[in-house]
Amino acid sequence: MRRGSWKIRIFIGLAIVAFAFIQRCSNKEENPYTGREQTINMTSEQEIAIGVQSAPEIAQQHGGLYPDERLQSFVDFVGEKLVDNSIARETPYEYDFHLLADDQTINAFALPGGQVFITYALFSQLNEAQLAGVLGHEIGHVIGRHSAERIAESSFWQTITMGASVGADAGNIVGSIGQNTLLKNGRGDELESDELGVLFMINAGYDPMEMIEVMKILKAAAGPNRVPEFQSSHPDPENRIEKIREAITKYGG
Ligand SMILES: [Zn+2]
Repeated sequence: MRRGSWKIRIFIGLAIVAFAFIQRCSNKEENPYTGREQTINMTSEQEIAIGVQSAPEIAQQHGGLYPDERLQSFVDFVGEKLVDNSIARETPYEYDFHLLADDQTINAFALPGGQVFITYALFSQLNEAQLAGVLGHEIGHVIGRHSAERIAESSFWQTITMGASVGADAGNIVGSIGQNTLLKNGRGDELESDELGVLFMINAGYDPMEMIEVMKILKAAAGPNRVPEFQSSHPDPENRIEKIREAITKYGG
């Protein structure tokens, strides 16, 4: 390759990287519900649309919805109680709580915009306050806009990786930095959601100490050699318990 084109490649590479940083700065906004500054490149309406569109497929992957209507309404009742008594009510999100038929996988998760899921395997181990803890944690992911933030972060790193691989052969190195960053953000998301979950429990009149019981249940469910999905994507329950205690003190539960 001629020296001239090598310089042009570096220049284009740097221009792409600079573009990624400028775009990231212009996409920074303060989350009005958590007060945290984050990078977001979609509207609340888009978050809701993504969640509503993905919900049926996600449910299907867990054996569909649990067939007992009474249990479905109970999950709805607890979820709505948390929403109605907290800042979640003031958000544009449309909350929907689903009990999944899956009785093998201990898991709960939220899609952007307010679609919240819990598997029967986890549900069947919880009392009402503990269920409120799990659902409160998931509402925390919605309000924290964690999915939207991860999407924005990953498109940022994709652009950086592209710039780096045009400019030099460093694409893989930058790519791996990006992945680590995503993972780290994910853990921060979990702790933020635990804190919000504690706050929502207190707001709705549930004993926030039950959130600690949830962590113990998750830990016990893990067993000596089985890691449930909920935990593999979440920080160690012991670390979470410490932060939950801090949150309970902070919000005076
Ligand atoms: Zn979580």
